[in-house]
Amino acid sequence: MTQSPTLPILQNYINGQWCYSETDQYLDVVNPATTEPLAKVPLASAAEVDLAAQAAQAAFVSWRKTPPAQRIQYLFQLKQLLEQSFEELAQTITTECGKTLEEARGEMRRAIENVEIACGIPMMMQGTNLEDIASGIDEFMIRQPLGVAAIIAPFNFPGMIPFWFMPYALACGNTCIIKPSERVPLTMSLVFQLIDRLNLPKGVINLVNGSKEAVDAILDHPAIRSISFVGSTPVARYIYSRAAANGKRAQCQGGAKNPVIILPDADMDMTTRITADSAFGCAGQRCLAASIAITVGEARQTYTESIAHTAATRIVGYGLDEKVQMGPVITAQSRQRIETLIQQGTDQGAKVLVDGRSPQIPGYEQGHFVRPTILQDVDPNSEIAKTEIFGPVLSLIHVETIDQAIALVNSGQYGNMACLFTSSGAAARKFRYEAEAGNIGINIGVAAPMAFFPFSGWKDSFFGDLHGQGQHAVEFFTQTKVVVERWSQKDWSRKF
Ligand code: NAD
Repeated sequence: MTQSPTLPILQNYINGQWCYSETDQYLDVVNPATTEPLAKVPLASAAEVDLAAQAAQAAFVSWRKTPPAQRIQYLFQLKQLLEQSFEELAQTITTECGKTLEEARGEMRRAIENVEIACGIPMMMQGTNLEDIASGIDEFMIRQPLGVAAIIAPFNFPGMIPFWFMPYALACGNTCIIKPSERVPLTMSLVFQLIDRLNLPKGVINLVNGSKEAVDAILDHPAIRSISFVGSTPVARYIYSRAAANGKRAQCQGGAKNPVIILPDADMDMTTRITADSAFGCAGQRCLAASIAITVGEARQTYTESIAHTAATRIVGYGLDEKVQMGPVITAQSRQRIETLIQQGTDQGAKVLVDGRSPQIPGYEQGHFVRPTILQDVDPNSEIAKTEIFGPVLSLIHVETIDQAIALVNSGQYGNMACLFTSSGAAARKFRYEAEAGNIGINIGVAAPMAFFPFSGWKDSFFGDLHGQGQHAVEFFTQTKVVVERWSQKDWSRKF
């Protein structure tokens, strides 16, 4: 816990009002490239979560009665405001999270795309009906909102991830509490300045800054009906079980260790470019980052040479500089952890083909930088092949057949994404059929689904059933009611 009294102090947004937290617990928000402190973020108490939950619960009474076509008018306005503030939002993401400006812009494009899709809720939320299921009896299913929805976000997409859930929750008639990552709270603060201009009814959407205490209070609060979480697997597992024990609906996205397979018939230039972007984009701090490249047969030599060259020549620096291709990792601890894992990998027999440890980035000597790193001849059973590194490290593993490669993919603990690079349709079909992962890429390095598809994940990458985005989000944020209805035919001829 650091003390920097001159820094701006972030506020919560509860019941339509900005308010200073009553806590005495603060963290500094730090620019990971310059290590300059940017602001102080409060760590809200359970009492403050309670205020937000009560406000959201009170707002739900009339918000759920507001017609969906009217609710989405706020989203249309929000889309416009997000577009007007697009560059400012992207710069804020880069400043607090470290990714390049172009990556930050891509993140905000995805956020806006989710607002656009949620504007289709009046269609997407429709139920089903059938007349005369028995003589004179009609049956239909309607969808109703659940109530107060809580969204708990990780550090690596401060702008986008709350939008996987929030626009759908609101459009479906739920009210909302967002808890951003305490490491990157500035972007959501800016988003809420825009939300404040929408003149939404008070309490429909609330922002609570905090960490574990706030999360636990959310998980235990009786008014909160659903939890949407994105973060690491141990926390996802914990949140899912505690939310479920408290009778809440929960979707919890966890960590990943994404493999990509390279067959000898792949377009090697394209494959190298795409897999390098996947492994080193966002400094590897992406749940869809390629972490293991499995070369099959003759792909080994060509791919190894070309990926080594691409990794070694990537431009690393401060993301606000448009020439930079990769920014820092989030904290000094994160950098230390990544470098320790690289060392463990070499201790377990891997060869460091490109070593990105302890780089000197001119002008940013204190920044949390790790350059792209390639480990070769990684033992599939070693820790480095199994642990989520969440940094710009690609491990190379070699096998002789596609079956061995797919078996390796499926042996992993996680199942967020798996990709294949090939020019064979038959190999692609076999792979997408057999690979155990929720997001599959064929000649794609970051298989991030558009907003009208669910953001899927299997095994230890996801706890729950329905996912964020698109139709799944509509189902997650609504409960169904089946009505069976009969009217006496005698009444039909009555005079009204
Ligand atoms: P994290 O699990 O440390 O934190 C996520 C959120 O949980 C934060 O808001 C944090 O305040 C809260 N939290 C942390 N520890 C907690 C605890 N003990 N009890 C209650 N709440 C707690 O994750 P992170 O480091 O911010 O994000 C990186 C992780 O997120 C990576 O593992 C990455 O793979 C994963 N991620 C997954 C997806 C996906 O779609 N599957 C997307 C993005 C990130």
